[in-house]
Amino acid sequence: NYVWTQNGIIAKDSLFYPFEERGLQFGDGIYEVIRIYQGNYDLLEAHIDRLYRSAEAIRLQVPFNKETLIASLQKLAEKNAVETDAKLYLQITRGSAPREHTFPNVPSNLYAYIEQSARPAAQLQQGVRTILTEDIRWDLCYIKSLNLLPNILAKQTAKEKGAYEAIFHKNGQVTEGSSSNVFIVKDNVLYTHPAAQNILHGCVRNRVLNLAAESALEIQETTFSTQQLLAADEVFITSTTSEVMPVIEVDGNCIRNGKPGVITRKLQLAYEKVSEIQETA
Ligand code: PLP
Repeated sequence: NYVWTQNGIIAKDSLFYPFEERGLQFGDGIYEVIRIYQGNYDLLEAHIDRLYRSAEAIRLQVPFNKETLIASLQKLAEKNAVETDAKLYLQITRGSAPREHTFPNVPSNLYAYIEQSARPAAQLQQGVRTILTEDIRWDLCYIKSLNLLPNILAKQTAKEKGAYEAIFHKNGQVTEGSSSNVFIVKDNVLYTHPAAQNILHGCVRNRVLNLAAESALEIQETTFSTQQLLAADEVFITSTTSEVMPVIEVDGNCIRNGKPGVITRKLQLAYEKVSEIQETA
């Protein structure tokens, strides 16, 4: 099992960092999670483009250009002989240096590794429960930064309440999930929060919007309230690992009849088709 770093591909067990590392001490870095279906990266370019946007936003140097980065990730997948459903985790931090808030003059630290990851087949079929929670995060959530404390706390609370995801709301408006984007369907119109600075611009979100447009569904990229969420005909969340995941309950309230909606199913199938997902369940 191998990991790719700025110094090349090495055995996973041989990667160590000094304790004075910007990611460890400050969360001073960015990351991506990329899906692998049957050994092939999905939405690879979209993730890499977002990585560069995140890097630019925090004035972090990505140690490679896009072509080299993509070629190296392909090499890593080959080296690990990935043939199943898996995911890649990649992070870049501002490097290892004595602890001081201002930027050090050292190279960035990059690592990427691949691990097996089955699709959440049962949940995709049945739908999942969610809870609502206050969005206490900062204004720049479009940056996929390592600072995930509010997301972690929200997801843990969801888990303790038997829910799959926590849905954030700010001033009564739904923003996104703790690790997903949120969509509702009302009267055959698809709503999702606009790709503003206060949410992550999900790669799956974007693909789903394209699929919805292709199927001539009316789309409104506008904010919607928690009341609108509860009164929706259908609700679903999207993410790299959750795909198009039906939501059947919010804070103990069933969404309509408590079953995945028809439009959700259509988008789910369209997503599986365009991602060339093989039935593995
Ligand atoms: N929003 C947040 C906060 C996330 O952490 C994620 C992904 O983990 C998403 C949305 C979905 O993004 P993507 O579709 O690119 O996986």
